[in-house]
Amino acid sequence: MTSVYVDNNATTKVAPEVFAAMEPFFCEMYGNPSSMHSIGGSVGPKLKAARAQVANLIGAQPDEIIFTSCGTESDSTAIHAALAVDPAKRHIVTSRVEHPAIGSLAGTLSKQGYRITEIPVDGDGCLDMNLLEESLTPDTAIVSIMWANNETGVIFPVEKIAAMCRQRGITFHTDAVQAVGKLPINLALSSIDMLSLSGHKLHAPKGIGALYVRKGTKFSPFMIGGHQEKGRRAGTENVPGIIALGKACELAGENLTKENTVVKKLRDRLESELIRLIPDAKVNGTIKTRTPNTSNISFANIEGESILLMLNEFGICASSGSACTSGSLEPSHVMRAMGVPFTMAHGSIRFSLSIYNSEADVDRIIKELPPIVKRLRELSPFS
Ligand code: PLP
Repeated sequence: MTSVYVDNNATTKVAPEVFAAMEPFFCEMYGNPSSMHSIGGSVGPKLKAARAQVANLIGAQPDEIIFTSCGTESDSTAIHAALAVDPAKRHIVTSRVEHPAIGSLAGTLSKQGYRITEIPVDGDGCLDMNLLEESLTPDTAIVSIMWANNETGVIFPVEKIAAMCRQRGITFHTDAVQAVGKLPINLALSSIDMLSLSGHKLHAPKGIGALYVRKGTKFSPFMIGGHQEKGRRAGTENVPGIIALGKACELAGENLTKENTVVKKLRDRLESELIRLIPDAKVNGTIKTRTPNTSNISFANIEGESILLMLNEFGICASSGSACTSGSLEPSHVMRAMGVPFTMAHGSIRFSLSIYNSEADVDRIIKELPPIVKRLRELSPFS
C-alpha cells in the first residue's frame, strides 16, 4: 500500500532535484569554504549562488540572508538580536497562536523580566489589530507575528503590522516558516525588518534555515565564534544544506503558481467533500485568508488521535491539531486561543498538502475517513 502524505506543514519530502543538487557536496566538494585550497575554495561561489536563490524567492538582496540551522534558530536569533541592540527596551509583542519557537521563547523571556503582550485571535483565528496597535509603546523592542499559522494556515496581515511598527521605529519580525514557498513574498516592497524561513518545510532537508535581516537593521549575533556569515552567525557552514535550500527556493519560485492553483484545488476539494460527507464537521480558521495547502477540520465528539491512528492503518499520514506534542490531551494553544469548543477542538485534524499530492490521494482520504469517523462516534461516550 502506498502512503498518502498530507502532513507537509510538519515536514516535506526532499525534492529529487534538491537531493541531486546537494549530493556532490558530501563526498566530492566537501571542503570547508574558509579553506585556501581548491577543494574548499570551489565551494564559496556555490554558496554565493545559493544565497542569491534564497534571496530571489523573497525579494531580498543576497547579503540580507543569514543561513541558520532551522526556523527555530532564525526566530531565536531575531528576537535576541532586537533585545541585544536596545537593552533598555523590555517589551515584546507577539500573538497567542505563534509556534513554540516564538511562544516558548516569549515565556522564557517573561521569566527573565521582559514584558510580553500576546495579541489574541477571534474564532476565525484572525488577530485583534486594534489591540495590536494599542499595545505598541516606546518601550517595545520587537513585534513578532507569524505570517501564516502552522495549524490552520490562517494568514496574518504582516505587511500592515510591519508598516505600523515602522512608523513607530519598532523592529518587526515575522516567522514565515509556513508562508515561504506558498505565498508570494517581496521584501523589497515591504517594511518587514526580519523574516524566518525553514528548509524542511519547502522540500529541502531538515537542519537548514535562513534569517532575512533588512539592510540597515541593527543586529547582534546569537551564535558567537568564527567569521562565517559576515560575523552574523558563527559556525562552519552546512554546505550541502545551503545548496539544498538554494535549489528548493528556486523550485518553490517556479512552483508558486502550482501551489496556488493545483494544490489549492486539491485542498478545496478534500475539504468540501469531507464537510459534505461527514456530519458535525467544521473547518477551523477563516477560509478567506489561508495558505493554499492547509485545511484544519474538527469532527465533533471524537478524538483526533484516534482518527489519526485509524487513518494511519489505511496508509494516510495526517496530523492532529488538537493535542500538543507532549502527548497531553489538552487541545492545542491555537484551538484554545480561537475559543474552539472542547468537543470540537479534541477532534481536529490538519491536512497539509504539497505539489506531490494527487487527485488519487484526495480520493483515498474522502473514501476512508467518513466510515472511520462514523465508527469512532459509535464507540464514543460523548455521542
Ligand atoms: N515556525 C513555524 C510556524 C513552524 O511551523 C515551525 C515548524 O513546524 C517552526 C517555526 C520551527 O521550524 P524548524 O522545525 O525548522 O525549527
